Amino acid sequence: MAWYCSKCKKEWVHDVLKCTFCGLDLEKMTEAGKVIAVTKVMVPSPEHPSSPYYNAVVEDSLGFKKIVKSETEPHLGKELNKTQQKPLSLPKGFLTGKKILVTGGASGIGAAIVKMALEAGAMVCFSYIANDEGARELEGKGGLAFKKDVSSEIQVKELAGEISAKWDRLDVIINNAGITSDAAFGNMSADAWDSVIKNNLTSAFYTSKNCLPLLNDGGRIVNISSIVGLDGNAGQANYAASKAGLIGLTKSLAKELASRKITVNAIAPGFIETRMTKKIPEGIQAQIKQRIPLGRFGRADEIASFVLFLSSDYASYATGSVFRIDGGFNL
Ligand code: NAD
Repeated sequence: MAWYCSKCKKEWVHDVLKCTFCGLDLEKMTEAGKVIAVTKVMVPSPEHPSSPYYNAVVEDSLGFKKIVKSETEPHLGKELNKTQQKPLSLPKGFLTGKKILVTGGASGIGAAIVKMALEAGAMVCFSYIANDEGARELEGKGGLAFKKDVSSEIQVKELAGEISAKWDRLDVIINNAGITSDAAFGNMSADAWDSVIKNNLTSAFYTSKNCLPLLNDGGRIVNISSIVGLDGNAGQANYAASKAGLIGLTKSLAKELASRKITVNAIAPGFIETRMTKKIPEGIQAQIKQRIPLGRFGRADEIASFVLFLSSDYASYATGSVFRIDGGFNL
């Protein structure tokens, strides 16, 4: 599905928080679609006994239809620029006092976690290797950026040292950094295997191990796995192995760190709208959406809210668990 800026009408790059062309905020982005039917709905309320609203059926470029609620009457056949749903946010102060590290925090799910955690009162630092612009933007919101490659133990040691020079402790470590390098198994090179295992799994080992001395008793580790780590996926043997490995790491660390009241959990997202899933050809995306009961890919903020709930004091009795967040894809 293509997304467009409501101001300059250019296609929006998903993992950038503002339109790259005119700078409009993410919150004001729109989804393009043609209105193919309109129903007027009367609202029987004592204050406004006759105020109507309209349900417009909007068809997007892939032929998917959705109902959009509008207060003004949309015209049949016109492009309706529906304001994108405002990203989720946690209650103010939900994470006040928490010191959080997010790896791979400059784009996609990681950036959504950083932004939401900052808004909920946490102090947040993040590592990144690409997307300097995204990193600067999150710094502008109060995030602390470290340009460190978490697949290198040397750089992770530097990261832990630089965090401890600024902060007395960490309360939460979120192992989010990840890559894909897909190929049919017969064509999968050793390099593609090694780099995915290193960036997705070994990075979590390096980060958890080197930042563990900083992690407060009662702290949290949240690992971003994938439904592919639970179910496997043709063409992603390396990615599936790395994400399944993260689950083994999660469960073992949960047992090992329970005596310090540190909880360790993993989440297994399904298909989430980020740069990673943008690589999937549009036709295949359409087929996948047909298999998702909720009928759409998830948004990064829908993963961030769950990760940050697990990071909070409210998730004190969950450990060693893997939570699927996939719109019902596995049903
Ligand atoms: P993304 O590509 O937007 O984000 C991944 C981030 O990790 C990027 O900013 C990248 O630069 C960073 N990164 C990669 N290797 C790194 C390294 N060695 N050091 C530091 N940073 C590094 O993709 P995303 O969808 O936001 O992915 C975030 C996580 O969620 C990944 O672990 C991914 O496997 C997982 N995930 C994504 C989906 C999805 O559908 N998008 C589904 C399941 C799981």
